[in-house]
Order: sequence, then C-alpha cells, then structure tokens
Amino acid sequence: MSFDVIVIGAGIGGLGCAARLTKAGRRVLVLEKNNHIGGTAYVFHRKGFTFPMGPLSFSFPDRVRSFLAAAGIEAEIGFRRNHFQLISPSLDIIYSARLNSVKRELANAFPHEKPGLEAFFRDLTEIIRQTEDVHLWHPDYWPKTARLKPGREKPRLSSDPARILEYSRTPCRRLLDRHLSDPTLKNFLGSQGTSEPEMSVLTLAFMWNVMSEVGIWSPSCGIHGLADLLAEAVMRNGGDIRVNSGVKDIRIEKGRVTGVRTESGEALAAPWVVSNVDPKKTFLELCSAADIPRPFLATIAATPYTGSELCVYLGLEPQKVDWKRMRATHLFYQHKEEPIRAGPEAFEDFENREIELCRWSDNAPDHVPPGKGSLVLRVSFPYDHFAGYRTGEKKRTAGYRAYKSALTQKLIAVSENALPGLGTAVEVVETATPLTYADWGRRYQGSIAGWTWRAEHGRSFKGKLLIETPLQNLLFVGIYAATELFLGGVPTAMHTADLAAGTILGDTNRDES
Ligand SMILES: Cc1cc2nc3c(=O)[nH]c(=O)nc-3n(C[C@H](O)[C@H](O)[C@H](O)COP(=O)(O)OP(=O)(O)OC[C@H]3O[C@@H](n4cnc5c(N)ncnc54)[C@H](O)[C@@H]3O)c2cc1C
Repeated sequence: MSFDVIVIGAGIGGLGCAARLTKAGRRVLVLEKNNHIGGTAYVFHRKGFTFPMGPLSFSFPDRVRSFLAAAGIEAEIGFRRNHFQLISPSLDIIYSARLNSVKRELANAFPHEKPGLEAFFRDLTEIIRQTEDVHLWHPDYWPKTARLKPGREKPRLSSDPARILEYSRTPCRRLLDRHLSDPTLKNFLGSQGTSEPEMSVLTLAFMWNVMSEVGIWSPSCGIHGLADLLAEAVMRNGGDIRVNSGVKDIRIEKGRVTGVRTESGEALAAPWVVSNVDPKKTFLELCSAADIPRPFLATIAATPYTGSELCVYLGLEPQKVDWKRMRATHLFYQHKEEPIRAGPEAFEDFENREIELCRWSDNAPDHVPPGKGSLVLRVSFPYDHFAGYRTGEKKRTAGYRAYKSALTQKLIAVSENALPGLGTAVEVVETATPLTYADWGRRYQGSIAGWTWRAEHGRSFKGKLLIETPLQNLLFVGIYAATELFLGGVPTAMHTADLAAGTILGDTNRDES
C-alpha cells in the first residue's frame, strides 16, 4: 500500500494536518505510539472520574472553529470562558478581566504606582495592537516555501518587521523597570504570577492579549473531543490511523525523506513525512545525526524547551470544601513569600511556590459522577529533579511511588490554606510527574509548553516557524513547530497543521477568519 503522506503522532497537530490533507484527497497514514489518539490533549479515567492529561483550556476559539470547518468538520461547539485569579500574600486579583479593569484594580492596590501603571498599560496596549495578528503579515511567521494560489496576493506588511524583531529580543523586564518600582507588581505584570519576569516584550504582549482580551476558553466537546472530531474526519475521508505503532526512525536518502521504519520493523514509504513529535526527539532520536546539517542540529540541541510539572488530579466531595477564596476556575496560589532557598529542596517548598488549582469539573461537569467535583493541582518542576527515578521507558526505581505520594500529600496540605477542607474531601488521587509527561506524553524531558519563553533565546532560530526543516519533505506540526506560542497551545498546533498541509497542497495562503 502506498501513501502520499505519513504523519508521525496523532496529537492535535498531527490529526489536524491529516484531516486537512485527507479532505483534499491525499492518502494519509497516521502512526501513533500510544494506545490512544489525541497526544497530551486527551483524558484518562479513574474510578468514575475523567481527568485531562494536559490542556485545561485554550485561546482563540474562533480560529479553532474555522480550522475545523476547513478540515470539513461541521460540529456545533460551544465555548465557556475560563477566568484566572492570583492569590499571594500581597495580591488577590482576577487578571483575566479586560486590561483596563486589571489596570484599575492594580492602581487601587498600588496607589503610589498609578502613573507608572498608566504608562505601562499604554505601552502594552500599543505593542499588542502592533503584534496581535503578526502571524498573518510578517514573513518570519510564514513557511519559507509558501506557495500562493493563483490570483492570491502576498500578505501585506501592516507594521514594521524590524520592530517585531526588537520586541522579540527585548526582555520585558526592561519595559517594567522603565515604568514601575514595586517588585510584586513587576513580577505579576511580567509573569502573570509571582515569578521573576523572563520573557520577551513580544511574548508578554501575546500573553496579556490572550489572557485579557481574546480570553481562554474550554470547548463543550472537551479538548479530547476536538481530537476525536479530527480523527473521525481523517477516517471518513479514507485516511488510516494506527495506534500502538511507534516510529523508530525516519528514512532519509540524499537529504530527502523517503519514509519511516516502525518499532515493529515495518518499512513504510511516502514522499512526505510530517512529524508531530517534538523537534528534539525527532532530530536527536528518530534521525541519524549524519543526515542533518551540523549547525541546525546544534541549535536544536542547545535551545531549551519550557520545563515540566508535577500534577495532582483529585476526585472530590465538593460540599466538604470551603470554596470562598477561589473566585475563578483557575487559581494561582502562593502561600508565603520568602527568599528562595538554593538546592533541590527549594522545589519541594510548596508553601513558598506558586501552585495552580483548576476546578476541572467547572469545565467538564460530565467528567465527574453526580454530585462530585474534580480539581487539578499543578506546580512546575524540572525533569532533572525526577530523572534519577527513571530506569527505562515507563520503568522507575523502588522509591519513586513513595516520593510521589509524599509530594502529593504535601501539595494537598498547602493547597488547603486556600481551600479549607480539601484534605477531607478527596476521594480519588492520581499524580503525574515530569517522567509521566516524558514517557506517556512522549515529550522531550516532559516539557509542557513549547520552546523556552526566555528572552535571551529570541534569536536562536531565524524565523518563528519550524514547519520546514533542512531535510527535504520533512515537515513539523504541533506546538514545537512554532518557536513562540503566538496563538497559545491548541490553536498554535492547529495553525501549524494548517500551514504544513498548505505547504504540501500548495495553498498556504488560505484566508483566515
Ligand atoms: C501538562 C500539560 C498541560 C498543558 N496545558 C495546556 C493548556 O492549558 N492549554 C493549551 O493550549 N495547551 C496546553 N498544553 C500543550 C498541549 O499539549 C498542546 O497545546 C496540544 O495538546 C497540542 O499538542 P501537539 O499537536 O503539539 O502534540 P502532542 O500532544 O505532543 O502529540 C504528539 C503525539 O506524537 C506521538 N508520538 C511521539 N513519539 C512518537 C513516535 N516515535 N511514533 C509515533 N508517535 C509518536 C505522541 O504519543 C503524541 O500522541 C499542555 C501540555 C501538557 C503536557
């Protein structure tokens, strides 16, 4: 059997690309290593509760709708807005409100910073205006080989490309320092939390635009429901999806991909290969280093991804919890603000760290038994902190379970400061660590949110997309196919899927709604 395109990985990006290609009549095979589709955008079940493996909500619902329509999917999907709150010893704020009301609330809490806040928000609003649709007009956000349909015009430059480059290389701390002096305020505006500002001005503008103006939403079909819809479309259009079919290597001849070899030893040929596997895994594990230009490989190896996290899933009796302090579906909570200690113990000091609490049953009331609730607790952790417990794929040392359990209990106990009664309300517990996201989620070192957001890496890659590669006819899709998550997670995965499909079909200049 021959294929026009082999897609490695059935995440949102892989399925999205396959759905677009099969709708255009291409013969597509999707190979997925896990026993389910959807990648990290899927769910798992424990004792009557259903929990999300990764994404809890996402931005740009209209673009998601228009992408599904372009893939021939007509489903009626409603979207519920998710709100976000921060509670720290010095701040309690709903920050997913419109920028003007965030500014007003901050001016009330920090009256001495009022003029600085005016100036900061004026600059931020102007930068958002210049950058919000940058992917539609800036050449760096278009595939290099973008071919235009006859009669279509090239996208016009609607702002100054050099300024965009400057924003992507300028640490946002510089903008904050220019206008403000209070460290709590600067950390909040520079990280939407309590962390030190690290990102570029460009990423900061994307982040506030998504949080406050576009909004963050959850779909009525569930995020895993989007993967189901895409997979159904692929199958309906004659495509093939094989789960439990990991790819071992990508076959390359004279700089051009010719197909793949599966873990079971099957050789499959196709003129195009699309990888939904992140670029580090693809180039460092699935390709032979000899086939890849050295400088490109060195950049892939040296540029960091975002880190990973510890995630605790709780099935609850909600009436036992005092929810008064939690005023939004997502609460970022830090109990204490003390100087951060050095060493690995600092990561376990949950009282002094920011914890995300998401009341998952707000978004997915049908994911809990009648009268029950669910909560997801997340705290960032580096992969290296857990690496010593991993002895092989899905294999752990004897102490791993006990350590995981101790961290889980500690995290619940600290969260109880925000939600009194939480400890007694828990009926079901499951915990994921960075090792889980590496071995089940299949991400390099369990990374969760794309390439690093740190400003100093703003110049690692030439363009903003990694859809095309130095290997002919090998394309990428998914969140790691963009060096910045300019549309947030799920929509960026769909956008890159759209561009990769367009590159193969020769119609990259599809109109965006
Ligand atoms: C814990 C966590 C929380 C997140 N929270 C959010 C959020 O709130 N909002 C948001 O928008 N995004 C979030 N994300 C990011 C989210 O994962 C993506 O937005 C979305 O799922 C798109 O993923 P993707 O297309 O890049 O592919 P992935 O989901 O990474 O899928 C890649 C697929 O490739 C498969 N694969 C890997 N190796 C092989 C191989 N050798 N052979 C065959 N198949 C292979 C994998 O099994 C997987 O199915 C989160 C991610 C994680 C892990």
